[in-house]
Amino acid sequence: MGSSILSIIYLIGSVTFILGLKMLSKPDTARKGNLVAAAGMSLAILGTIFLYRVNDAPLHNYGWIFAGLAIGGVIGVLSAKKVKMTAMPEMVSMFNGMGGACAALISIVEFDHIIKLIKNLYAPVTDDHLVLQLLETTASRGIVVIILLSLIIGAVSCAGSIIAWGKLTGKVKDFSFGGQHFLNLGVLALLIGLSVWLTVIFPTAPATGSIIFYVIFLLALFYGVLFVLPIGGADMPVVISLLNSFTGVAAACGGFLYSNPVMLTGGILVGSAGTILTILMCKAMNRSLKNVLIGSFGGGATGAAAAGKEQGSYKEISLNDAAVVLAYANKVIIVPGYGLAVAQAQHACHELEKQLEDKGVEVKYAIHPVAGRMPGHMNVLLAEADVPYEKLLEMEDANAEFPTTDAVLILGANDVVNPAAKNDPASPIYGMPILEVENAKVVIVNKRSMKPGYAGIENDLFFQPKTSMLFGDAKKVLQDLLGAIKEV
Ligand code: NDP
Repeated sequence: MGSSILSIIYLIGSVTFILGLKMLSKPDTARKGNLVAAAGMSLAILGTIFLYRVNDAPLHNYGWIFAGLAIGGVIGVLSAKKVKMTAMPEMVSMFNGMGGACAALISIVEFDHIIKLIKNLYAPVTDDHLVLQLLETTASRGIVVIILLSLIIGAVSCAGSIIAWGKLTGKVKDFSFGGQHFLNLGVLALLIGLSVWLTVIFPTAPATGSIIFYVIFLLALFYGVLFVLPIGGADMPVVISLLNSFTGVAAACGGFLYSNPVMLTGGILVGSAGTILTILMCKAMNRSLKNVLIGSFGGGATGAAAAGKEQGSYKEISLNDAAVVLAYANKVIIVPGYGLAVAQAQHACHELEKQLEDKGVEVKYAIHPVAGRMPGHMNVLLAEADVPYEKLLEMEDANAEFPTTDAVLILGANDVVNPAAKNDPASPIYGMPILEVENAKVVIVNKRSMKPGYAGIENDLFFQPKTSMLFGDAKKVLQDLLGAIKEV
């Protein structure tokens, strides 16, 4: 009876994951989707705790289980509440690392379990053939392969995610040396070789098998560090998404191991969603995954601007003049970027939009798919300030509207409006689709200085005749603009 209820609970859990993921694809249903999937996960966890049977007996170590749940739950809730939107990639990375660590720990526990079975249960049996036969009922080689896969992928994901977190928080610097990629390949080859060896000798040599197993674990951790260390700090969001898909695969291995459908479904969904997200992010930046993994991006300026090409001079606009330009425009498109998130100026931005609309100006937002530091960053940021979704234009639609736009107001965006992506084949962002703001009549750029953005390159847009710079922190500038427009 209990096991049938548990099967139904697992089915409900799996369905909620799929529904939740589907709902996450639209900003207006995303929050609900998250809650639906979380409810399914809670149900699956509680169902496992109370209904799962080991040799017909219920779980007994409730104290440990609930203590772990309570500590993890409190840490999770507090850190999620405290985290700033701009630090979200760091938090996702750390949580992902914990997922990888769980997968690796499950492998260690289960391998240890099998070794104990071999040593204790079958100790008197010396005939290898007989041991093998007995083992058929407890641990086939297939299980060992799954344990190893989960161990390696989980350990790589855990160590890699912690390094990624360190890079994003500035605690770990980019580090590479000549021949590092060959060392990485060597370690990977060693990992595969040792795994094959362990699988082949496995049931008959438990002592040697144990040593090889822990060497594999340490090597996988080492590989995770080596794999992420040389990647440009700026590319971390893509790497985190990739490591996230690794953790999903490791969790799916756990699902195989325990014949647990909800773990399997969850793992596969995370694995495939992470892979798709990685591909989409690479596409939106017009870079291959190989280039992200070995191309150290954002480490320094390249391209014509960096090669010392004369950029000309830029002109500044006063707050009052900017207010007049915006207030007398028929149509204004706002381009939000990473700086708007840094300044937490989304509410002031929404106020400006409403104020301009009250003056009869049509206001829309142009959303670049990789504006900010994570996918959907701008959508989430603007949703926080209750900006209506129908005001958000996707890149293609925005590009079609710029020629009929009187003024574009860029708030803390840089790379996503850099014309070098179209005009300068030497630029690292050449080929990345961008918002073609220069097709509007007037462009006002708000940022704090002439410093470059994520890609570390200068932006020719800032030196064009129709562009004016409005320097200052986005929040302060927007608040001042609100006052100035009132006077117009
Ligand atoms: P950028 O990083 O190119 O530029 C942001 C600009 O904001 C900076 O030039 C900075 O200039 C300005 N800024 C910072 N703080 C403030 C502030 N308080 N007030 C006003 N301005 C500020 O951002 P974009 O959004 O244009 O581009 C995103 C970049 O991130 C792209 O290169 C993209 O490929 C990359 N990326 C995005 C991912 C995603 O999923 N969204 C993932 C991985 C990478 P200043 O210091 O002078 O103020």
